[in-house]
Amino acid sequence: MTMPARRIFFMLIVCGAVLPACQSVQTTQPGVVGVARKQSMSTMVSPQAIDQSAGQSYSAELSRARTAGTLNRDPPQVVRVRKIAARLIDQTGYFRPDAKSWAWSINVETSKEINAYCMPGGRIMVYTGLIDRLNLTDAELATVMAHEISHALREHSREQVSRMMNEQIGLTALAGLAGLNDASMQLASLLGDVTFNLPHSRVQESEADELGLELMARAGYDPNAAISLWKKMAALGQGNNSSFMSTHPSSATRTADLEALLPKVMPLYQAASKP
Ligand SMILES: [Zn+2]
Repeated sequence: MTMPARRIFFMLIVCGAVLPACQSVQTTQPGVVGVARKQSMSTMVSPQAIDQSAGQSYSAELSRARTAGTLNRDPPQVVRVRKIAARLIDQTGYFRPDAKSWAWSINVETSKEINAYCMPGGRIMVYTGLIDRLNLTDAELATVMAHEISHALREHSREQVSRMMNEQIGLTALAGLAGLNDASMQLASLLGDVTFNLPHSRVQESEADELGLELMARAGYDPNAAISLWKKMAALGQGNNSSFMSTHPSSATRTADLEALLPKVMPLYQAASKP
């Protein structure tokens, strides 16, 4: 970059014209587990843009699975997954009132892979490999789904896309004061990476564990199942074609952190109506 360009660039930074502004938001109520971190979101990545992009991406996944003949193949299993999801979704309003009116969608894909995700706006996919290979109880399945739903409630994808977009735009701007118009086009590919390829940050993982633990307890699922779930994951070990386990390592710390929170959430479980 030439000296005049550099000067203009820094002037634009000072004016806030090049680097997108960020705002600090509180996406969810802290709950008894106390998830209270303020999150930094780019004003260029609106919740509406994320929701639209997630909707398109999820539709594409459903079409692909439908064409492959792997979508919702086992009706009793689909009913089971949707019943657990419905109980969890019913409790999301406690953490953020708008969540209960999201256009939730819950589907099951036949795959040996151990995986599940909840895209922004409540678009859930559970792989049969997760249920069958780990022989999950309802409460253990609720643990995974509550964890994934918590990522969506906390808008972790928007947070991650915000950060990546800032980095990319910053790099593009440094390279030549160009590229701002590309930003919206990058959203879909960034969201795809965040959903299917990239791990969440460790902080986001802890938040999803903690909020998920409270969510399952409020929905009437024994939070002790969170401990047994992660032990099952650990027992299965690495190198087993599991994208979930590569992005969600089951460590002693993870289990210990969850165990330490049990006294806080057990009263909620005891007071909750049971499935
Ligand atoms: Zn996670």
